[in-house]
Parts: sequence; C-alpha cells; structure tokens
Amino acid sequence: MGRNALIAGNWKLNLDHHEALHLIRDLGLRLNQLELSKVEVAVHPPFTDLRTVQTIVEGDKLPISLGAQHVSHHAKGAYTGEVSTTMLAKLKTQYVLVGHSERRALFGMDDQLVQQTAAAVIAEGMSAVICVGESAEEREAGEMTAVLERQTLAAVRGLPATAADAIVLAYEPVWAIGTGQAATAEDAQHAASFLRETLSSSLGKAAADSIRILYGGSVQPQNTEELLGGPDVDGVLVGGASLNGATFAEIVAAAVRCYG
Ligand code: PEP
Repeated sequence: MGRNALIAGNWKLNLDHHEALHLIRDLGLRLNQLELSKVEVAVHPPFTDLRTVQTIVEGDKLPISLGAQHVSHHAKGAYTGEVSTTMLAKLKTQYVLVGHSERRALFGMDDQLVQQTAAAVIAEGMSAVICVGESAEEREAGEMTAVLERQTLAAVRGLPATAADAIVLAYEPVWAIGTGQAATAEDAQHAASFLRETLSSSLGKAAADSIRILYGGSVQPQNTEELLGGPDVDGVLVGGASLNGATFAEIVAAAVRCYG
C-alpha cells in the first residue's frame, strides 16, 4: 500500500537527560549508517528529556522523529503536573503515544480519555500513536476482537477521514509487553488486519489503508523481520529494547532489510 515503516522506541520511565543525550548520540551515529528512505525512526523519551533530545536531533540533523509518551487533553489551566499539546508541539514533537496499556491500567485512562487526548494531539498538528490491545484474560475469554474493536472505534470517534495522516495505531497485546513473550507473526498480522477493517468501518477504506499499524510487545532484533512480514504490520513499537542504541539500531536495520 506504499506505507513506510515506523520504528518507535518507548523509553518509559527510564533515562535522565544526561543518559538521554548519550543514547541519542549513539543511536544517531548508528542510524546514519543505514538507508532510511522507507523506514522512519521515532523515540519517545520522558518529558524531562525532550528538549535535550530535540536539540541534539536538530543540531546533528539526525534521522529521528521526536515523540512523547503522554499528554494532557486539557489545553491549559489548573491541572497540576500535566503537560499540554501546545508545549509538546513547541518542541517539535511529532508523535504522542495515546492510551498505552500502562496508562490505561495504572493511571485510569479510559476509552473516553483516549479519544479526547487523541483529538487534542491531532488538533495541535501532531500524530497520535493510539495503543490498543487485549489482556491475557480477555484473550483467553475469546474477547480479543471485541476489545480491539471497542478501543479503536472509541479512539477515532468524531475524527474525519482526513485525520488519517495523523493517526498511527499500535497493536500491543498486554500479555506481550515486557514479558519476553512476543506475539507470533501470524497473531500480529491477524490483529493488524482486523484493526484495519475496524478503521475502515469508521474512517473509510482509503483512510484505513493509509494508516500505519504497528505491533508492540517484546520486540527484539531477532523477531523484528518476522513480525514485519505481515502485509498489515507497518512497524514496531519497542519498549525495553529501545533503551540500548546498538539493540534499537539492529531493530531498525531489520526493518530496512524488509522495506529496502
Ligand atoms: C511498550 O512499552 O510499548 C512495549 C512494547 O514494551 P516492550 O517492548 O518492553 O515489551
């Protein structure tokens, strides 16, 4: 479908801004060795690292897009501890994770808040990387597709088809995150294909066909090529393995082998 790959690294609650500086320089040197015309690389550092990473990326012209892990759906005001979409956009942030399963499970982010946050991100001219995925219990109960459908339709509710350019969907089965137990390539493709149909029912086929769908959950250099083999899987969202420049660059190199 002509979709380029997106390889995104979610640093979670790791790395202070000094450590971030070292990692981004190391990663930049490694990525500069690769042919990245069809593969985009993004990192999602903690808020306190964003300015440092932005400065290095811009100054050294590194082939890395800047992402955040979370943002408030409020524009401004008395919301202690929150960061707004305007603040992120000012730092040239391009991507924001929305509804990561850790935000849903640990910080009470429900489907409605995911929808409001995604809309706020898109309204500010950034792209929302909307995370969806079933838990082990839901999967065992045969509820996987119902969960994916509910989460996806709720997240894109009210968005026009023209917002497709600003949407990335990440299939992140909760049981695969940080467990070392990645989904199989068949499972990832099956879910991605179902998600594309779901997007199509809401935004139309052309929009759905243009949206990148990522797989996330225990991605490593060794399983990347296989996971990217499915026609509906357009990249990976990487947690633990994105904290090491060499390992993350190997994942990117595997994507380059798939995409040319
Ligand atoms: C994630 O945090 O989105 C993730 C996929 O983590 P990990 O790669 O460590 O499983």
